[in-house]
Amino acid sequence: MKIKFCGAARTVTGSCYLIDNGETKFVVDCGAFQGIDSYEKNREPFPFDPSTIDYIFLTHAHYDHCGRLPILIKQGFHGRIISTQPTRDLTKLVLLDSAKLQQEDFERWEVRAKESDNPELIERNRPLYSESDVEATMDLFEIYPYGNSVKLKEGLEFRMRDAGHILGSAMFELWLKTEAGRDRKIVFSGDLGQPGARIIRDPDFVREADYVVCESTYGNRLHKNKDETLLELLSVLKQAKESGGNVLIPSFAIERTQELLYELNLFIENKLLENVDVYLDSPMASKATEIFKMYPNFYDEDARRLLEKGDDPFQFPGFHITESVEDSKRLIDKHGIVIIAGSGMCTGGRILHHLKNNLENPKTNVVIVGYQVEGTLGRRLVEGEPVVEIFGDKIEVNAHVHTLGGFSAHGDQRDLRYWLRGFGRSPKMVFITHGDKEIAIGFANNVKTELDLSAKVPEMNEEFELK
Ligand SMILES: [Zn+2]
Repeated sequence: MKIKFCGAARTVTGSCYLIDNGETKFVVDCGAFQGIDSYEKNREPFPFDPSTIDYIFLTHAHYDHCGRLPILIKQGFHGRIISTQPTRDLTKLVLLDSAKLQQEDFERWEVRAKESDNPELIERNRPLYSESDVEATMDLFEIYPYGNSVKLKEGLEFRMRDAGHILGSAMFELWLKTEAGRDRKIVFSGDLGQPGARIIRDPDFVREADYVVCESTYGNRLHKNKDETLLELLSVLKQAKESGGNVLIPSFAIERTQELLYELNLFIENKLLENVDVYLDSPMASKATEIFKMYPNFYDEDARRLLEKGDDPFQFPGFHITESVEDSKRLIDKHGIVIIAGSGMCTGGRILHHLKNNLENPKTNVVIVGYQVEGTLGRRLVEGEPVVEIFGDKIEVNAHVHTLGGFSAHGDQRDLRYWLRGFGRSPKMVFITHGDKEIAIGFANNVKTELDLSAKVPEMNEEFELK
């Protein structure tokens, strides 16, 4: 039986792992690459024939885990995609958004190709998939709850458990047979959440595995304390209110935005903050919030208790949703407001217009609440670059940029180690993936010395025999 790391190997994006035991072939996740060289990487052929894959196990709906699914389907995959119900709904949202953005991008390239008389530009920039490809992808989903062992066929069984990362996120336990007839269990962590996160439950533990594939996004650091993070957020909001500057929060549409709304709701309901206008300027985040509202049975106890008391965690005085582009443009004249908009790493979306309009103003506060991949505008802001380029214009950064570490949807080094400790000494090998190269290698060393487990950091497209 072999495992091949076809993405998220020594990098954080493009998650895709192939397992082949001679009888069955399946992949866990089929995500898109983001950041440096992602354009080319997402266009490279898969290192396997999609038509020969029987199943896709989808851990969660983030773009870097589901973003290349429709390409697989276009290239002949006709098996089943296995996930939880919120993952299916959120994946549809993410993929439709991607198809739309790709189409818009393509139309701009068409104009450029005509202007420069360079038809090659058209071929190079064709969308990877369309909305109808996404619809075809959705038809292949098969939904399962957490906690049930499901036998898909002789010699292949799986169970999903809550990964506590975003709504519906799962880790996968898989039982299968090697070519020699040995029973083996492989566990894929998916992205592991931070215990104590709002709305969703804490990650489950798994007690046994022969092989573990574990993420390492924050394998080198400890998150700031959540309470300190909230106090910092509150103080930025209060100070901005006094100075009349705007607060811009680039936010991921799924989970982070809902978590922010949840915290803002608590600030306002508890009178820690008053008379603040908060604009959610992200149609996708608004839609994701609607999906969140559909699945209260996936919430943790605190969130459910809030609902039972009649407090909608995603609604409070001063909260506004901007739908149209015109509404979004109207925010330009406003001061002393909070704007939550995508994309989370400032690589596109409405946040770019707000950054362009506000970064030069020293009264502006930019609050970074998520991981920023190398090569993104978000990363440049975090690193304190004095001048950044937006829509071809050079913009001086006079705004204050705050990085609030405590909001992460990923566990930190301690959380990851704590989760791995749950296996005792049972794994023969822990494969460390989904982390920048240095971080993944550092975390693998940490796992070896602290947990006395064998650990490897696979290279892209590297293959291992699972005996
Ligand atoms: Zn994720």
